[in-house]
Amino acid sequence: MTDRKNVRPTAELQAADLAHHLHPFTDHTELAGEGGPRIITHGEGVWLWDSEGRRLLDGMAGLWCVNIGYGRPELGEVARRQMDRLAYYNTFFKTSHEPVVELSERLAGLLPDGLDHVFFANSGSEANDTAVRLVRNYWARHGQPERHVIISRRHAYHGSTILAASLGGMASMHDIPGIPVPGIVHAEPPYSWEAGADLDDPEFGARAADAVEEAILRAGADSVAAFIGEPVMGAGGVIVPPPGYWKRVQEICDRYGILLICDEVICGFGRMGEWFGAQSYAIRPDVMTMAKGLSSGYQPISAVAINARVAEPLLDRVGRFPHGFTYSGHPVAAAVALENLDIMARENLLGHVRVTAAPALQTGLATLRDHPLVGEVRGAGLVAALELTADKASRRPFDPAGSVATRVRDLCFERGLVTRAVREGLVFAPPLVISQDEVGELVTILKSCLDDVWAAL
Ligand SMILES: *Cc1c(COP(=O)(O)O)cnc(C)c1O
Repeated sequence: MTDRKNVRPTAELQAADLAHHLHPFTDHTELAGEGGPRIITHGEGVWLWDSEGRRLLDGMAGLWCVNIGYGRPELGEVARRQMDRLAYYNTFFKTSHEPVVELSERLAGLLPDGLDHVFFANSGSEANDTAVRLVRNYWARHGQPERHVIISRRHAYHGSTILAASLGGMASMHDIPGIPVPGIVHAEPPYSWEAGADLDDPEFGARAADAVEEAILRAGADSVAAFIGEPVMGAGGVIVPPPGYWKRVQEICDRYGILLICDEVICGFGRMGEWFGAQSYAIRPDVMTMAKGLSSGYQPISAVAINARVAEPLLDRVGRFPHGFTYSGHPVAAAVALENLDIMARENLLGHVRVTAAPALQTGLATLRDHPLVGEVRGAGLVAALELTADKASRRPFDPAGSVATRVRDLCFERGLVTRAVREGLVFAPPLVISQDEVGELVTILKSCLDDVWAAL
């Protein structure tokens, strides 16, 4: 085990961080007011430690990505071997290497039938950017360049490049001039809590799916290239599709001949108890984007898989697809991803999620349903959300909006649990390796924080 202590004292690291490091999605004045960031030193399983020696249960698997848990020595060994042998070579100019060939083949074997070709990138954002280029390329090669509009959904998260942020449906991310870019139309999401509907109501499922059709018609059906959606919406607040939703969305896409892109960046690689969320919801995507759990965050790598329909213009027609990244199919990242997939298979992590972890998390959180602060508990597989409310009957938010969720989140942090606040809710996506006892600890800490925030209101 390598040394886990930082070289420099915490206060010095925090000062240097505040002086020079810009953090994603962070209010830097708030961060400065708090004296700087918490410095994380190491991780083991579902646990993190900070530089003050405090232990945290990571209820978020980093950013929904550390599926196999922290501190796996095998991945470092594989990375080291690959760096020694071939640290880098590109895949642009009719060259390849063993790790990327093997990973492509492995993914084709795991992916739902028909998704046989894989393009690599480095992040979920780049994968979604690539997916949009692929579907627009498809329609252009079929003589319909005007079919370029992508239907997405409000509250969706598809990443943070200009295109990915535009695909996303978070108002706060559209607060920069030029975003969203033209050619994107947002449909209403299947968000029963917000819509005042019942989570399990099939009638709401049908109505929510029809919102996708409305968006298609609003854009003009002849101009729509594709619909993009996460099987379960993650960063937008763990919005779980109501019964019948995906079946109907699939029918709508089929009816208008529109390509279906599944963003599996969170749902993929075991989080739903299957390799992919599309399998859990019987979706037949033409394009699938993956990142996060593909390497469990041990290396940055993402991928886009396409079926024969979308691949045909690339494989059977003359002309290049003018797109790619220096690090597309990076050999070290590919080797690490392969080892990560090996570990998932060897340890039957999908089975663990289905049989143990997901039922423990969902039933554990369900015990908080009657808490005076909790309006709704929802989830699927190993993602879940608690929706907090000032009034259960009217679903009224708190004033100021989101203030109670952030208070509970901050208190959880103090008591050793990492969760994340989204609007009025708290979301959870622990590493897939979480044990039943660890889920118990998560629920116990969370309940104590809800109780104490409630008592103080
Ligand atoms: C995280 C995320 C992305 C973006 O991935 P990055 O690697 O941060 O670019 C895209 N889609 C979904 C569903 C995500 O959760």
